[in-house]
Amino acid sequence: MERVILIKYGELTTKKGNRKFFIQTLYQNIQKKLKNLDVHITKDISRMYVTFQEKDLEIILKKIQEVFGIHTFQVARKVPTDIKTIQEACLEVMKEEDFHTFKVETKRSDKSFPTPSLEFSRQIGGIILKNIENIQVDVHTPDVLLQIEILKGYTYIYTNKQYGLGGYPVGCQEKALLMLSGGIDSPVAGYLALKRGVPIDCVYFEAIPHTSLNAREKVISLTKKLAKYKDKINLHIISFTKIQEEIYKNCDSDYTITIMRRMMYRIMEKLSLKYKALAIVNGESIGQVASQTLHSMSVINQVTNMPVIRPVACLDKLEIIDLSKKIDTYDISILPYEDCCTVFVPKHPVIHPTLKKCLENEEKFDFSKLIDEAVETHQTIVVEEEMEDFSNDLF
Ligand code: ATP
Ligand code: MG
Repeated sequence: MERVILIKYGELTTKKGNRKFFIQTLYQNIQKKLKNLDVHITKDISRMYVTFQEKDLEIILKKIQEVFGIHTFQVARKVPTDIKTIQEACLEVMKEEDFHTFKVETKRSDKSFPTPSLEFSRQIGGIILKNIENIQVDVHTPDVLLQIEILKGYTYIYTNKQYGLGGYPVGCQEKALLMLSGGIDSPVAGYLALKRGVPIDCVYFEAIPHTSLNAREKVISLTKKLAKYKDKINLHIISFTKIQEEIYKNCDSDYTITIMRRMMYRIMEKLSLKYKALAIVNGESIGQVASQTLHSMSVINQVTNMPVIRPVACLDKLEIIDLSKKIDTYDISILPYEDCCTVFVPKHPVIHPTLKKCLENEEKFDFSKLIDEAVETHQTIVVEEEMEDFSNDLF
């Protein structure tokens, strides 16, 4: 008996004008996700159909769980529209389930099928009751809902649906650049941006020799986790050493973090132009540290007109941690390697910085050349989910 995975689209069904584009993007994303498997994918306006080899089912379902833009999915039996065949298939499906209560629902799109939907559901329910022990019908909250869709020529039979990730297919929006540090917050911010269909490149600022290659490895590992949701992610690595050293030498110590973040934003803006990205995404969360008070954010933000998206801005740290566990980045994020922000952290960072003082500090050294140099000399690694770990001596 043939089985097929039915995939129902997520929120995109509400966006009528863009529906075709959204479905096409989702289709391509699922194709990429299942590229090494022997599958055949077709689509129509309401859902997608994946035929597969039985031996691959488990891995396919796991991969489908990692694609944004899917509302629900289920494995359905596909049988010829013939009463006896449907009855037998329904019974077979239900015998595989572990349940006490059930309900049958029939949708009869093929009106030439002789039995009306309600009556057919009742008939099938009767057969199930007769053949399986210790079960009963519950039309309100059944353990198992058996659904039968009768179409012209063939019929789909399936039980409980599984929920997909929701969101929009990645690629439905324009590109953004994610500031990815080795911490807990920024990978979660990246995940949430991807969830809204935004394809991201990642940008990592490193300060070798003050930060180690292990710290870079960590960021690559985090990017690999995000690459589950977008088949390849460009990771741009910026050498931030000279800028940080000059900030440290020239600027007031309580302003070093504020100035450093203004420099990061300036570089992000230049990179965005280069890579045609329309927004910056980062893991800032209101009030979490001195540089994330609204005061600090406002002063730091004044170096750019680009939208800065902060998906975790209003989440508690514990909520961010929960998400990071869910997306499997937490254990990597808590590895103890120094980040460039932590290496140079002053004893008393300013909580209420002023623009005037930022500008005064920034006049003490000509940072513009170093900013251009950082942009020009950056390296890019294309990161894939299943990529081998890099060895340090590659760098
Ligand atoms: P995270 O847990 O993501 O490291 P955080 O709470 O440690 O965040 P900060 O170090 O102040 O916060 O950084 C705020 C945000 O700035 C980060 O979430 C990240 O988006 C960005 N950021 C900080 N350091 C770097 C870096 N070295 N490279 C790229 N982005 C960075
Ligand atoms: Mg950090």
